[in-house]
Amino acid sequence: MMKRAHASLLSLLIVCLLFPAISRQAAGKIVAVKAAHAFDARSGAMIDNAVIIIEDARVKIFGANIAIPAEAELIDLGPKTVLPGLIDCHTHLTFEPNQMGYASLGVSVPRSALSGAKNARLTLEAGFTTVRNVGASGYADIALRDAINAGDVPGPRIVASGPALGITGGHCDNNLLAPEFNHVDEGVADGVPSVMRKTREVIKYGADLIKICSTGGVLSLGDDPKASQYTLEEMKAIVGEAHRLGRKVAAHAHGGDGIKLAVLAGVDSIEHGSYIDDEAIKLMREHGTYLVPTLYLGDWFMENYQRIGVPAPMVAKAKEVMPIARKNIARAFAQGVPVAFGTDSAVYPHGLNGREFAVYVKLGMTPVRAIQTATIHASKLLGWDDRIGTIDAGKYADLIAVDGDPTKDVTELERVKWVMKGGIIVKR
Ligand SMILES: [Zn+2]
Repeated sequence: MMKRAHASLLSLLIVCLLFPAISRQAAGKIVAVKAAHAFDARSGAMIDNAVIIIEDARVKIFGANIAIPAEAELIDLGPKTVLPGLIDCHTHLTFEPNQMGYASLGVSVPRSALSGAKNARLTLEAGFTTVRNVGASGYADIALRDAINAGDVPGPRIVASGPALGITGGHCDNNLLAPEFNHVDEGVADGVPSVMRKTREVIKYGADLIKICSTGGVLSLGDDPKASQYTLEEMKAIVGEAHRLGRKVAAHAHGGDGIKLAVLAGVDSIEHGSYIDDEAIKLMREHGTYLVPTLYLGDWFMENYQRIGVPAPMVAKAKEVMPIARKNIARAFAQGVPVAFGTDSAVYPHGLNGREFAVYVKLGMTPVRAIQTATIHASKLLGWDDRIGTIDAGKYADLIAVDGDPTKDVTELERVKWVMKGGIIVKR
């Protein structure tokens, strides 16, 4: 076996030596992207006469009026504005809006994975070149991530959680069935030893991060969004294991107590944060915990819940929580809580992710800061600021282009016209 491996390595070396031009051309393709403007996500400034030189999948040089090498393939985007590829930190690519409540019971894991393949393409074409997927059934998100990385299906880079961890009967369990069905959702674990084991188990099967439910939820039965669920001790055990094994933790949390307990336990982000109060805002600023608000979904849900047949108790919770969340999150924005962009796609149709920006701006954020939540700040939350989030030498050439100036009209990001992922154009 060893001899054979050596022989094939030797023949590869000979081929490379005999055909240096071929191997160089394949490995070192140079592309120059030229556009009237480009957004520098770090400073928030707009660069005019922008040129981005790309070698293979990565950015080599970015700046104004850069000389374009003669051998480069030129992509001239004319008057357009280029931005770093957008990042959504809260998606559910394998779920669909018309599968809430009892409708979810008829969907198999393989079917949800195939929905995920479609939704991954829609999300990428909407300009989101990276997503953090926080909750899926049967590790369908892990399979989708691997299929995209293998080049089998088009889609964004995915940071995937696998099943969300939660308490028995909580938001991340499934309370739709009668006791005789004995159904327990796959992420359910109670007590410190069980949650430690579950954290290790989802990492064993490929999770890049751990998602937990620290309070009840809105689109679930038999639980209260205001009530905390995991105890401080349980969450500390999860965070301890996850961080030790190099994974971050995202905590679904609506109620103020659950937000504070999760922050004290050391989670990296609070998802939704509907009842965030001044004390929680202060704690999050002190700990550097990101808030991932998911707000546009409320607009779409209120217009469509009857048509998609959402069970009445869920609608009642949504009508109470969604308007209050906007008021509380506007206050959190004003008080300078760290924010990373998220949408909870699947509560609204995939591909409309860009509509979240206009809600942030309506709640008091400047367009520049709103764009930074989906670029530089999101990349920091993911721990991927060494590879995405800004247009910088050495980072992936994940780029998008829009017609107008999104720092003046942030809804331009709802109409992304051109998308490149890792140096390859995926939308013209
Ligand atoms: Zn979610």
